[in-house]
Amino acid sequence: MGETFDGSCFCGAVRYRLRSRPMFVNCCHCRDCQKQTGGAFAINALIETDRIELVSGEPKPWRMAAESGRPHDIYRCPECASALWSDYGGRPALRFVRVATLDDPAALPPDAHIFTRSKLPWVKLGDAPAFEIFYDMAVQWPPASLARRRAILGDV
Ligand SMILES: [Zn+2]
Ligand SMILES: [Zn+2]
Repeated sequence: MGETFDGSCFCGAVRYRLRSRPMFVNCCHCRDCQKQTGGAFAINALIETDRIELVSGEPKPWRMAAESGRPHDIYRCPECASALWSDYGGRPALRFVRVATLDDPAALPPDAHIFTRSKLPWVKLGDAPAFEIFYDMAVQWPPASLARRRAILGDV
């Protein structure tokens, strides 16, 4: 695997290390992400939970209501409440790591912009492909990342 990526919450009580590159990075402009972050978008690196090493502290889950009816748990620092990652849909083997909590957030640029239908009009996007809602994973994801996803979730 080789490459690692270090990150932390705002106060530093929780520190973590990604043990490899993520499978894919989504920059999500949906209204839920905007409300939950107070920002224009959330940048989520999708990675296997067992590739996140907790260096210190332990984030605690906060259950969010999701339109889909599936659970969404946001894991936050118990001290400063920074959001570090999410479990979307009750899939404990998969995490959506908030890229802006990395020590070097520019290290993982988005592979795709999603839910651009609610993108703020003054946000200008870079070169990554952009989608009004979502994309076909079989088309956008590299084969190696699809294989990693299948290894933890099966063919779903
Ligand atoms: Zn903290
Ligand atoms: Zn979103």
